[in-house]
Amino acid sequence: MARRRESARGSMPLSELLESKESRAMASFGVRDLDTMMRFAPRRYTTPAPLRSLHEVQEGEEVSAIVSVVDVKERRMRSRQGSILEVVVSDGIESLTLTFFLAKQHLVQWHRNQLPVGKHIVVRGTVGLNKQTHEPQITHPLYEDYEDTPEGRMRAQRPLPVYPLKKTIAQRTMRSATEKGVEFGDRLSRPVPAEVVARRGLLPLAEAVRKVHVPWTLAETRAGLAHLVFEEAFVLQAIFAQRRAQDARTPAPALRADGPLQPAFDERLPFELTAGQREVGGQIIDRIRQDHPTSVLLQGDVGSGKTVIALRAMLRAVDSGHQAALLAPTEVLAEQHYRTLTALLGDLARAGQLDGHPDATRVRLLTGSQRTAARRETLLDVTSGQAGIVVGTHALLTESVEFASLALVVIDEQHRFGVDHRRRLRTKGPAGTSPHVVVMTATPIPRTAALATVGDLDVLTLHESPGMRAGVEAFVVHESNPKWEQRMWQRAGEEIAAGRQVFVVCARIDEAGDDAPAPPPMDPESGATPLPVARGVTETAELLASRRELAGARIGILHGRLSTEEKQHVMDRVVDGEIDVLVATTVIEVGVDVPNASVMIVLDAERFGVSQLHQLRGRVGRGRHAGIAFLDTRAVEGSETSQHLQRVASAADGFALAELDLRRRGAGDLVGEEQSGLQRTLKHLDVIRDAEVIEQAREDAFAVVEADPALSSHPDLAGSIEDRLRDADPDVERS
Ligand code: ADP
Ligand code: MG
Repeated sequence: MARRRESARGSMPLSELLESKESRAMASFGVRDLDTMMRFAPRRYTTPAPLRSLHEVQEGEEVSAIVSVVDVKERRMRSRQGSILEVVVSDGIESLTLTFFLAKQHLVQWHRNQLPVGKHIVVRGTVGLNKQTHEPQITHPLYEDYEDTPEGRMRAQRPLPVYPLKKTIAQRTMRSATEKGVEFGDRLSRPVPAEVVARRGLLPLAEAVRKVHVPWTLAETRAGLAHLVFEEAFVLQAIFAQRRAQDARTPAPALRADGPLQPAFDERLPFELTAGQREVGGQIIDRIRQDHPTSVLLQGDVGSGKTVIALRAMLRAVDSGHQAALLAPTEVLAEQHYRTLTALLGDLARAGQLDGHPDATRVRLLTGSQRTAARRETLLDVTSGQAGIVVGTHALLTESVEFASLALVVIDEQHRFGVDHRRRLRTKGPAGTSPHVVVMTATPIPRTAALATVGDLDVLTLHESPGMRAGVEAFVVHESNPKWEQRMWQRAGEEIAAGRQVFVVCARIDEAGDDAPAPPPMDPESGATPLPVARGVTETAELLASRRELAGARIGILHGRLSTEEKQHVMDRVVDGEIDVLVATTVIEVGVDVPNASVMIVLDAERFGVSQLHQLRGRVGRGRHAGIAFLDTRAVEGSETSQHLQRVASAADGFALAELDLRRRGAGDLVGEEQSGLQRTLKHLDVIRDAEVIEQAREDAFAVVEADPALSSHPDLAGSIEDRLRDADPDVERS
């Protein structure tokens, strides 16, 4: 809490506003000030049953009724400590008993004080029959004071907010806290300027939060929430607008040279670039020619040819006298990129060697596990500028690696690389400039979702894939159907016999260990059947060794607990064709490129997110041979889980899948749990449902920031931005 904002309105600490029980309840959700509490929306609302006369009431019915207290009796409980409080109430014709089992005497006293004889109340609950007397009663009803006015009657019928609860916290405590809060609506911070609120037809904030927390009708709650949704989108877009404005003020190396490396590389490409590659590649080159840093999200399905485009841009950086870095999420992938780049470049990457091209540069791999001597040599090349292209993991940026002149950073898979981390690149360029950034992702997202999540990037998309890839067909295999399961392993065996290779992916390393990731919630509603224990790599490898269909196959394993050398050794053997079946965890999820692999079997497929499954499927069918992916599950055929997997299996491409994923998981989880905090902190916004709101908020926020980049006349917005960024990622420095 270093630089808590101090604006005129400030945010009132709840401890000053509420009773300590209420403020403790809120604090248990991390809610400590008025502004946060008023934006802590109910999960849903309950609408009370219509008001009834007691004589219509049947056993088992949910009722609400206006009654008065006729009699109050208290008896000791026989079997345990405490008392039974019986309150007889009447609507003038029929009567009913309200029964409370109370362990503590002070609770008895509390209810007695609330319910003196003659008091009018609205009572709500489910009617039951008293076991002894067979009279109707309501056990532990909800009740509140009733005032016999038109307003009182409406109040008795109003929807009630239902907040998330934790043990020991009562719904009524949460409600009384927010009810007090709405009285201070004029003290709230208002990040959305009044002019925008009016123009977009939103309720003023104070009114909006009243309708969210103390509504009269359900329609009101929607109008109130609309303000909060817009506000969230607006603050997010203002962050993006500020970043863009900042980029426009920041100097970057202009990469304008047209050769000699890039054209030489184009000449030796063994294929023609597709029209899409030429177009998108051209757009990137137009952007990196500018002397302000450009940030591009290059999206395209697995195998759509992103890496080639990125490499051409990197060569442009080298041609312009600078360096480029390619960052991968893991060492295995960095290693693989390194091999891909050196293979694609051939003699263009062999500067200083006898068979090097005269214009050649050097490509260097820098990983944490390199031996000291090799590492020192590499670092020397990086620092001196001998290495035009440096490949490594994200650690390259956080460690104090000194580049001679870093002008372009290509990041593979933004998945694992938080959006906020890009800010760390600032001033990494020569003479305090900021390098250009190209983020590549194979998990494309729909346009408004992109605006809501990576709205500070220009999104460029490769829609087609070069025709060479044979493609992948995917099937769901239910283990409950042994024929299918057998057929699956048979297919694997056939492919091996034909000289191809098979990947088997498990959700965990050992079945005994506790390394299994928490399963994604597949059936949040029905969630009745717990998932069986996920199968592990080691056990699966043992089992497969004795499967008839795979007799004679050479089986290897790969997972995160192996050392980097071991992992590399295994991958080398896979690439060299010495392993037929690789049983692995998702370490092979991204980027692994084995053109000879044709079968992907994902065990316990329901444990994996949509984008993970997409990535895994993309690991096969990369070469001339068509790929098959099997999503193997123990879920019941026809269940929600099974249907979901069917949809994943039949989705045409990454775009279809991304949409599916979004609809399923909502925005909070947009791009996986490792994605940066900005999206994680979304509370109200749904990037699919609220597409239009996002567009509007973006337009408005960009206009506000353009007119007042420092937001000096918008202190509330500035404060909200600061809060959002801090919540999103406390570790990233801001400026
Ligand atoms: P991505 O990075 O999008 O997954 P890559 O750039 O790695 O895709 O390309 C996948 C494969 O297709 C690589 O083997 C690459 O050499 C090849 N490739 C790229 N562009 C073309 C093209 N225009 N024609 C044929 N093959 C291509
Ligand atoms: Mg690639």
